[in-house]
Amino acid sequence: SLQINRALILGLIETCREVIASHADDLCELDRAIGDGDHGTNMRRGCDAVYLDRERLGGLPLPQALETIGTMLVMSVGGASGPLYGTLLIEIGRRLGARKNGADFANILGEAIDAVARRGRAQAGDKTLLDVLYPVHTEMVRQSALVRIAERAEESAQLTAGMKAMRGRASFLGDRSIGHIDPGASSCALLTTAICRYLKE
Ligand code: ADP
Ligand code: MG
Ligand code: MG
Repeated sequence: SLQINRALILGLIETCREVIASHADDLCELDRAIGDGDHGTNMRRGCDAVYLDRERLGGLPLPQALETIGTMLVMSVGGASGPLYGTLLIEIGRRLGARKNGADFANILGEAIDAVARRGRAQAGDKTLLDVLYPVHTEMVRQSALVRIAERAEESAQLTAGMKAMRGRASFLGDRSIGHIDPGASSCALLTTAICRYLKE
């Protein structure tokens, strides 16, 4: 119903804003090591913009809300991460809207992640947020429990420490990027964990 839709959209917006706000300093610190130190600030700006518009967003059908939020992230986050997170939500929203009866969400997510990879010209192992998104997708295809999906997201973010960055600013460091967790992978794990915890309640 309209009320359930509204509660879900507002709940997700608040959950994501809260987890990013409370970890913004950590995300900036990760980005200071292998980037320009602004990832937490960028993500917080995007989440705040969405939060300010939550009343309007809560009145939209879920697919349209996701598309609109994606566009807002592209415009407000800035940096490399804005267009990538934006693409993810826009593509999920479009596909949710186009497929009538409960199309498998894991398939939709998989296609949206592929669109993110194309947009960033990145692949698995390049030390980006994709190194969290792909494993999360794998767990969803397996229909794993929400706690397992969240656990896998956290483990996957940690594993980016062993990778050499091939895309984005961190790639300028070459081998010196090894040993540091990717900031985008970390924000992605934080968001995944927060969303899984929210959906479980
Ligand atoms: P910027 O690097 O422009 O300052 P952010 O600091 O907000 O942007 O985001 C950096 C994160 O974006 C990286 O940690 C990485 O996860 C992700 N990223 C950067 N470039 C790419 C890319 N080409 N493909 C996928 N992800 C990328
Ligand atoms: Mg940065
Ligand atoms: Mg920047």
